[in-house]
Amino acid sequence: MQHLLQTDPDMAKAIDLEHQRQLSKIELIASENFTSAAVREATGSIMTHKYAEGYPGKRYYGGCEFVDMAEELARERACQLFGAEYANVQPHSGSQANMAVYFGALKPGDTIMGMDLSHGGHLTHGAPVSFSGKLFKTVFYGVDQATGIIDYEQVAEQARTHRPQLIIAGASAYPREIDFARFRAIADEVGAQLMVDMAHIAGLVATGLHASPIGHAHFTTSTTHKTLRGPRGGLILSGSEFGKTLNSQIFPGIQGGPLMHVIAAKGVAFGEALQPSFRAYQEQVVANAQALGHALTETGFDLVSGGTDNHLLLVDLTRKNITGKDAEAALDKAGITANKNTVPFETRSPFVTSGIRLGTPAVTTRGMTAEHMHQIAAWIEAALDNMDNETRLLEINKEIAAFAGEFPLFISQPGADLS
Ligand code: PLP
Repeated sequence: MQHLLQTDPDMAKAIDLEHQRQLSKIELIASENFTSAAVREATGSIMTHKYAEGYPGKRYYGGCEFVDMAEELARERACQLFGAEYANVQPHSGSQANMAVYFGALKPGDTIMGMDLSHGGHLTHGAPVSFSGKLFKTVFYGVDQATGIIDYEQVAEQARTHRPQLIIAGASAYPREIDFARFRAIADEVGAQLMVDMAHIAGLVATGLHASPIGHAHFTTSTTHKTLRGPRGGLILSGSEFGKTLNSQIFPGIQGGPLMHVIAAKGVAFGEALQPSFRAYQEQVVANAQALGHALTETGFDLVSGGTDNHLLLVDLTRKNITGKDAEAALDKAGITANKNTVPFETRSPFVTSGIRLGTPAVTTRGMTAEHMHQIAAWIEAALDNMDNETRLLEINKEIAAFAGEFPLFISQPGADLS
């Protein structure tokens, strides 16, 4: 950062402070991760200079021969990683990947059916505040109140009653495996198409630790920066028959020039995800989530659905009479970063909530294992038992800073053994 330090010390300071924050805290936000130096080199590369509207071989600008190479590499690796016929690596974000699918598959006013936001769905799956809820009629399904598991009977009933044109499977806060075959059967029964948004679980899907939507979903979308551990961005996969439509919905439909530096970095991340060490990493992510879940349950916390099959846990604080908002603030003071989250059948507002969402992708990238999850659970318990005790929270913060300082942000280079 020596150039930035000289030319813009204020911005250099903000970046340095954020770096220190990432190093000294325990990062449990389920949708975040730390990228490899190689991914960050590509993201910060001269590829950012290039305009490349269009697609490889069919651009609206000259001088695209090398960005074409980069985009082809990224596309081919995405197809190989997920076993897909078609990949579009241009979406600037997961939300734009979803928007492109909706615009390709639907007309304004058509009906979409997604998971209720308060049950774990995403804003772009039909929430009224999102374009998805403004442009389309929406219907929602959710989880069973007793089990916390998706209520597939309700999904089928809702589909029969409302006959949506598109059913969306996938979630931002659902700790259990999703049955994509069952979703496809429901979609087929009512003549709907199926979109799977695998943003959270893409790394698990890539390594076979979660069933793949490919072969079930007509369209699969993802982000590239969560369990997949790439740069911030989006991805669309499908059968080749939808390729032309999806390409045109991204460009010129909703985007202009692609972010070639990010596309190059996506390619690097897909290459890393194809290495055997990436599977070991994902196995550790799940093992850590399960260890954290067991430790929290032992200390008296309630987990939605009783545990996890994937990288995240949804802690229901209702019985402890703590709000998600207060828990998030206390954990932050103690050096643990997490986010408040609604729980199914939530009684509080989304700004307050009764839960917190915890995830293990980032701490696992730093090399933490199951034994460390027990220590983290003990710190969570101590912080939430001492929410009004600033002195104790500060003590925990110091312990955590010393502990976290032992772990670099990214340890597993391709080929490295994480087990
Ligand atoms: N889909 C799901 C399931 C998500 O969890 C998210 C982000 O959290 C998105 C889509 C949107 O991704 P982005 O923030 O890149 O727009």
